[in-house]
Amino acid sequence: MRYDVIIIGAGPGGIFSAYEMMRGSSALKIAVFESGHALDKRKCPIDGEKVKSCIHCASCSIMSGFGGAGAFSDGKYNITNDFGGTLFEHIGKTQAIDLMRYVDEINMEHGGAGTKMYSTAGTHLKKLCLQNKLNLLDASVRHLGTDVNYIVLEQLYAELRDKVDFYFDTPVAEVEALADGYRITCKDAAYECDRCVISVGRSGSKWMEKVCENLDISTKSNRVDIGVRVELPAVIFSHLTDELYESKIVYRTEKFEDRVRTFCMNPYGIVVNENTNGIVTVNGHSYDDEKKRTANTNFALLVAKHFSEPFKDSNGYGESIARLSNMLGGGVIVQRFGDLVRGRRSNMKRIEEGLVTPTLAATPGDLSLVLPKRILDGIIEMIYALDKIAPGTANDDTLLYGVEVKFYNMEVDIDENLESRHKGLYVIGDGSGVTHSLSHASASGVYVARQILGKV
Ligand SMILES: Cc1cc2nc3c(=O)[nH]c(=O)nc-3n(C[C@H](O)[C@H](O)[C@H](O)COP(=O)(O)OP(=O)(O)OC[C@H]3O[C@@H](n4cnc5c(N)ncnc54)[C@H](O)[C@@H]3O)c2cc1C
Repeated sequence: MRYDVIIIGAGPGGIFSAYEMMRGSSALKIAVFESGHALDKRKCPIDGEKVKSCIHCASCSIMSGFGGAGAFSDGKYNITNDFGGTLFEHIGKTQAIDLMRYVDEINMEHGGAGTKMYSTAGTHLKKLCLQNKLNLLDASVRHLGTDVNYIVLEQLYAELRDKVDFYFDTPVAEVEALADGYRITCKDAAYECDRCVISVGRSGSKWMEKVCENLDISTKSNRVDIGVRVELPAVIFSHLTDELYESKIVYRTEKFEDRVRTFCMNPYGIVVNENTNGIVTVNGHSYDDEKKRTANTNFALLVAKHFSEPFKDSNGYGESIARLSNMLGGGVIVQRFGDLVRGRRSNMKRIEEGLVTPTLAATPGDLSLVLPKRILDGIIEMIYALDKIAPGTANDDTLLYGVEVKFYNMEVDIDENLESRHKGLYVIGDGSGVTHSLSHASASGVYVARQILGKV
């Protein structure tokens, strides 16, 4: 079977790439290969009752399948060049923002209309942050919410499925360069194409490394973000979340001058497990539907760790720390802030007596046995800094879940067309190491589709 274009991975990068090509040319024969399930078959077995924690499914429904890692996410589309990736370094700042806005328009046409766009423009909170040594980054944020995000994906799939061939539960094992295109090999069959778009996200990071090695494409990797997910009563952060929804706040620690930042804020949301290559870490989401809201807000506090030569395996470093927490807690560990600063582990009794009801069943434990001192000190410093703009953040009962690790894919050597050294082989989305977010990954998909349409 030969296609004009094969896309590997049906996350936002792959979906928007297929969508834009389908829109631009009805003549193109396009296939999408996805190792996970179709959207309606994606179901994480954790139900909080019979299955309380991760059972390590062969294909993780949270990370894989139509919609990619973002399918059950909070659906926050940040329109900014300040965070979420460095797409602008390849395609320019104006074009990157234009594409993110275009993605937003498509989402609005597919069920997203009526959702709210938040913005930091003109907010007095910027001054409040600066007065307390905190930097509030600029962004516009479209919050779809987990429920509307799902509807948008359903509608995009409904439009795509008759015009694009989807192969679900079909991981691609190998990509080979031919004289006139590419051959991809799956378990039972091989397919050929003129052009190939690889968009395998974070779950495909190890596979991507192998592909780069086989095709002699250079990569570099030197960063991992490590930290905890904070959960507290939603009212403590409501003056920030009501106005901005998500605030990206950066703090420079006094002790080590490390940068600690808030990440993935989920007002009235829940804390969830995340499984990356068998390692259970923590994440969070929230719903647009008021009925599904909880009384808590959660967000991550992450410390960026950059390594220099000769060490190259930054993700391996993050994985080792996550493995340590899995070893001690059988999964994610939860600790009260008051217990952490007093140097004692949390137990079920103290958590149950606290003011914050946990939304994830995690094992009470001691995060100081897991996180390196420098990272832990940074997190504690930031919690006290946040307490100045949101009093109550440093309360004893504030819950910290660990560990949260933000793995960065190694950065693949691609040019201004997002094309590798092999002509017609594009690498986009989080799998390229260039993007780390829904909006940037989607925008990279549209960009590459337009490149291909221009060349066809
Ligand atoms: C719980 C959670 C919440 C999040 N919340 C947000 C948020 O609110 N806002 C935000 O901006 N970002 C969020 N993110 C990050 C966001 O989901 C990602 O940045 C985005 O999905 C990246 O898109 P992508 O298409 O590059 O990769 P992915 O979405 O990871 O998709 C890649 C796809 O490729 C498939 N694949 C991998 N290897 C192969 C292979 N060999 N063969 C075939 N298929 C393969 C995978 O199964 C996957 O479906 C969240 C992530 C998680 C896990």
